[in-house]
Amino acid sequence: MTLQSDAASETACRTDLYDVALKRFERAVSYLDLSEAVKNFLRVPKRELTVNFPVKMDNGEIANFAGYRVHHSTVLGPTMGGVRYTPHANLDMVRALAMWTTWQCALVNLPYGGAKGAVICDPAQLSTAERERLTRRYAGEISVLIQGQSDIPAPDLGTDAQTIAWMMDTYSLVTGRSIPSLVTGQRTGHNRHNGHNGQHRPHVPITGSLDRADATGLGVVICLDEALCRVGLDQPAEVRIAIQGFGSVGRWVARHAAAMGYRVVAVSDISGGLYDPNGLNVDDVIAYAESNVGGVVAGYPCADAITNADLLALDCDVLVPCALENQITRENARDVRAFLIVEGATGPVTPAADLLLKRRDVTVIPDMLANAGGVIVSYFEWVQGLQSFLWDAREVQRQLRRVLLKAYEDVMRTRYEFGVTLRTAAQIAAIKRVSEAAMVRGLVP
Ligand code: NAD
Repeated sequence: MTLQSDAASETACRTDLYDVALKRFERAVSYLDLSEAVKNFLRVPKRELTVNFPVKMDNGEIANFAGYRVHHSTVLGPTMGGVRYTPHANLDMVRALAMWTTWQCALVNLPYGGAKGAVICDPAQLSTAERERLTRRYAGEISVLIQGQSDIPAPDLGTDAQTIAWMMDTYSLVTGRSIPSLVTGQRTGHNRHNGHNGQHRPHVPITGSLDRADATGLGVVICLDEALCRVGLDQPAEVRIAIQGFGSVGRWVARHAAAMGYRVVAVSDISGGLYDPNGLNVDDVIAYAESNVGGVVAGYPCADAITNADLLALDCDVLVPCALENQITRENARDVRAFLIVEGATGPVTPAADLLLKRRDVTVIPDMLANAGGVIVSYFEWVQGLQSFLWDAREVQRQLRRVLLKAYEDVMRTRYEFGVTLRTAAQIAAIKRVSEAAMVRGLVP
């Protein structure tokens, strides 16, 4: 068996994501007084690894897989970043995402550089046993970059807490002792069950942090709430929210938004979307999706069925893309009717769409800020792992809010200082921090 990725998608990803990352970098540095040497240093990844490895499949055949791990920058500290399992992975995609992670960590003031990893595979086509063998083999292959806690993997698209637990176990086997702080995003127990009015039942089976699983979604909602409060919209029940993508991020955005009283009028996933102008019963939709093969929302009986294209063009106040990159583009940006877009996904709005949205006064809270909750709580998890000391859920949420809102304030200040969009402001603030640290360290002669 050989794994073939879709060549067309791969080419699209290659030209898009890395190209976009570099374009946005160039735009931001044009506002900064940096030497060519510093720009050249920050523009390229520090190190890249490509691995090819065999995995025994359940039917006894051997399949060959390819994977990557890229460290973009180690200026602020060890690298950290997610691992994606997707048929569309390629080196340029991983480079782009590693660079993004560097800026994201810098923006929220974490002592990390950015990394990213990926394996070219379709996780939906793998059994649990195959995923475990693949994960352990990939973890072993990239361990040369992980040794000494110099790089900290976390879950991302197509991977989860279980994947990360297998990675941690593999490294611990190699080193001969359990090292929880080698990875973040490990399995945590049900410290908050469906509905939010449920009780907190702190429980961490291996290691990890409470509230890591929903941290990205919670961070998105903290940003959304802050943006609305800043324009005087403090009546959540009057705010209609549409969410594209109903996976790890989208579901938690829906849950937290509904718990805060916002009206979640539409959600969608790969199977299609649901719409109820009066507000969906989010817990009921999640329960329905979880009872379905593939966890999809299609067929939910208590709402109107819509397409993903319908959702993006819906009459609503806030649009929260939480699925994939390149969803709001030159082609459909004019159809967007929301006045606020909060990027739960990484790179859902293309640069051409950014321009069109800006002309129409649609505010975009950029991914770098909006979906930083995951890296922030990953950092808390790392700190707790190093100290073997578990914070309670209230402390995790309090610190997440504090760190995220400080970054929000930094972005707003930078925006007014330079007269740029929030996206460019976030990049300027982040690049400034990394370049100053590089100079202080004397990294660039
Ligand atoms: P996931 O795999 O759990 O969920 C993805 C969701 O998107 C699924 O509901 C899927 O059905 C849906 N989807 C896929 N293709 C779609 C399409 N064409 N149209 C509409 N929906 C589609 O992934 P996730 O972890 O929720 O990540 C989503 C995004 O958020 C990614 O861009 C990821 O990089 C970013 N992100 C995730 C985290 C995290 O903590 N998980 C942190 C930061 C950023």
